[in-house]
Amino acid sequence: MGTIPSETIEQIAAANDIVEVIGAYFPLKRAGANFKALCPFHQEKTPSFTVSPSRQTFHCFGCGVGGSVFRFAMDYEHTDFPSAVRKLAARVGITVVEKRGAADEDRQHETRRTLLKLHGEAAQWFHENLIKREVGEPARQYLKQRGITAEIAKRWQLGYAPDEWDAFGGWARASRAHHVPHTQ
Ligand code: ZN
Repeated sequence: MGTIPSETIEQIAAANDIVEVIGAYFPLKRAGANFKALCPFHQEKTPSFTVSPSRQTFHCFGCGVGGSVFRFAMDYEHTDFPSAVRKLAARVGITVVEKRGAADEDRQHETRRTLLKLHGEAAQWFHENLIKREVGEPARQYLKQRGITAEIAKRWQLGYAPDEWDAFGGWARASRAHHVPHTQ
């Protein structure tokens, strides 16, 4: 799973006024610059749960809970941070596009390197059939007739597939153990 960019998180925090968000769950009463309510996180008879619109935080003097609008959503909904962020994003119509994690990218590069190496080695195998191996003799004769020198064959890494239905498959299976990318 990816990560949510911090700019997106800031944008979501800015768009979700904490008084409105908490006020949608239970009524808040104005008390000077702040708002108060009976704390939803512990049993009490006089309100010590306080919401500060200027700081965009909540705090309970009774049980000590507190934090940002995300913290409230996490604690109240019993959910983790990414879920709280997504829920509050949906509330204000912000689309959350997650960044791919660094580990994903590393794995992708690793797979690509392995594939490139495999293709290179396969091409080399065909090429050596043509220029080095006995099996390539008829092909060498043919190229000679066509005026294609060994130098040209090397420069273009021309190859030859032996007339055996499974020659390449056999080679691939034999070298496969070294090349299977590590997947999780
Ligand atoms: Zn409390």
